[in-house]
Amino acid sequence: MSDPNAPDESHVRARRDQGGQRRDLTYPPLPQALVVPVYDNHTHMEIADGVGDGGDGPLDYREHLDRASSVGVRGVVQVGTDLETSRWSAEIAAREPRVLAAVALHPNEAPELEERGLLDDHLAGIAELAALPRVRAIGETGLDYFRTEGPGRAAQIRSFEAHIAIAKTHGLALTIHDRDAHEDVIATLDRVGAPEKTVFHCFSGDADLARLCAERGWYMSFAGTVTFKNAQSLRDALEVAPRHLILIETDAPFLTPTPYRGRPNAPYLIPLTLRSMAETIGTDPSMLAAQISSNTELVYGRWDADPVTVTE
Ligand SMILES: [Zn+2]
Ligand SMILES: [Zn+2]
Repeated sequence: MSDPNAPDESHVRARRDQGGQRRDLTYPPLPQALVVPVYDNHTHMEIADGVGDGGDGPLDYREHLDRASSVGVRGVVQVGTDLETSRWSAEIAAREPRVLAAVALHPNEAPELEERGLLDDHLAGIAELAALPRVRAIGETGLDYFRTEGPGRAAQIRSFEAHIAIAKTHGLALTIHDRDAHEDVIATLDRVGAPEKTVFHCFSGDADLARLCAERGWYMSFAGTVTFKNAQSLRDALEVAPRHLILIETDAPFLTPTPYRGRPNAPYLIPLTLRSMAETIGTDPSMLAAQISSNTELVYGRWDADPVTVTE
């Protein structure tokens, strides 16, 4: 029987394979559970992975959350990247106490929406979602110069500025996607003024950028990339980041932590990244988890407040 309250799953999209490379599509085993629980503050449960030859996916969002709970990942921020997935994120957050939502148009969506004359309409849709009680962040927004050049960048900046304004209007956190665009991201934030709670998701800077973020009180969210062998500059950044500004995320299904790089990622793999981070900064994983949990609640508020009770 289908659940009449089940959200529309038509937003589900498969992870695109990169470069036609063959990947191991099985989910990694459950890691040892954390003693002190944390949150995954950036995940995309709507992107289906593990699909194809030999794959054991996709996983339903409830399966993701159950696996996460079983290893001490007590909640997630589900992040939308366009109007459709943002609506889905808000809908899931409204009915599921382990989920809060972030809503936005991803910077890679902005140029095409602008070209089609749809950017303002879609921004208005995001502003509407921002008023919902379990939508606690505007993002991911920002700049991505890896895939976009020339006039597309102007659309990204316009969209980024509009998202910053929405975050400020609603007193919400801002989740920043910054790919190969550190200078312009910082210049934009400095020009228009950053919201009080600003998070660099999948922090990709070096120790200098970490110091600059620390000066401005911006949060740095570390993903599985911090465990990669060739990512010493990220570990240097982590070492100089003040503990009260550190967050953790998966950005699942991407960026699976070592030793499972390339396989599907999911919120239940947070313990691998957390233990690796604790080792880098020379602290006990439980101490770090307690700090990160309290940082996360400061940014997004409490998970167990305001879930809408769904009556069957
Ligand atoms: Zn991103
Ligand atoms: Zn993301």
